Amino acid sequence: MTTVLRNDWKVSEVLDFFQMPFNDLIFKSHSIHRENFNPNTIQISTLLSIKTGGCPENCSYCPQSAHHNTNLEKQQLMNVDEIVNEAKSAKDAGASRFCMGAAWRNLHDRDLEYICEIIRRVKSLGLETCMTLGMLKDGQAEKMKEAGLDFYNHNIDTSEEFYDKIITTRKFEDRIDTIEKVRNSGLNVCCGGIVGMGEDIEDRAKMLITLANFEKHPESVPINQLVKVDGTPLQNEKDIDGFDFIKTIAVARIMMPKSYVRLSAGRTKMNEQMQALCFFAGANSIFFGEKLLTTENPEELSDLALMKKLGISGI
Ligand code: SF4
Repeated sequence: MTTVLRNDWKVSEVLDFFQMPFNDLIFKSHSIHRENFNPNTIQISTLLSIKTGGCPENCSYCPQSAHHNTNLEKQQLMNVDEIVNEAKSAKDAGASRFCMGAAWRNLHDRDLEYICEIIRRVKSLGLETCMTLGMLKDGQAEKMKEAGLDFYNHNIDTSEEFYDKIITTRKFEDRIDTIEKVRNSGLNVCCGGIVGMGEDIEDRAKMLITLANFEKHPESVPINQLVKVDGTPLQNEKDIDGFDFIKTIAVARIMMPKSYVRLSAGRTKMNEQMQALCFFAGANSIFFGEKLLTTENPEELSDLALMKKLGISGI
């Protein structure tokens, strides 16, 4: 069967996926996964926070927002040599991509040259590079691409309809605008969202439809499970059912058959069996390293042990 890439998904057909019997859904998603990828390899990235905390945005899930009191230690933009050392360690540990995040509302032109220097130095180690720096203005993505940037991450977070329950300092359209700038620059797009923030299944379906109905699917689609951090407005949010999370991965795989679907934040709360089911359903990328920006992530050794048990190798 040849995979057809679609960007005309309708809410009703995506909701039908979510209503399918679990075994039927993951059989379908795994079959599509197998057609497009080696199911026994996963892509490994490492994420470093290069500027931490004090962000003027009010994302309800984020400990780095200046609007929430999370006792997070703030950190200015890191020195390039320190970043390069972290990137070397990530490469030695098996990462193929080094992702760097700064808690900014948007990238200022005054920081652009320094960011480009960081990109050049990390790229020269033979790693793929990814940045997540907030909203972009015209021309900034092109400059970073010239410096050697491979991916830019900018998540849509949730559905357009649910967006103002989670963030009010920017609009859903602002996200789309930056994602379009990234796409038009020729950079690879890393774009996904978070589940477990109180949204309903229709919101999850609509979030996936926004991603899958872009003219070109994001090359990388991180699906995060909310990490409830004390001091954030979502600290007491109800846990998402594990099967609902796995279904979200499966539906993402069905709708975006050739994208890398990344099992991202929230993995520390998932046991090995749940992670294995996520890989079966179509997840084929993870972050390595103890921290995901500021929230916990499984240690590399436990990831390697799990991969060994499953016969999965990293790329
Ligand atoms: S998610 Fe990003 S933009 Fe939102 S508060 Fe956190 S660092 Fe700022």
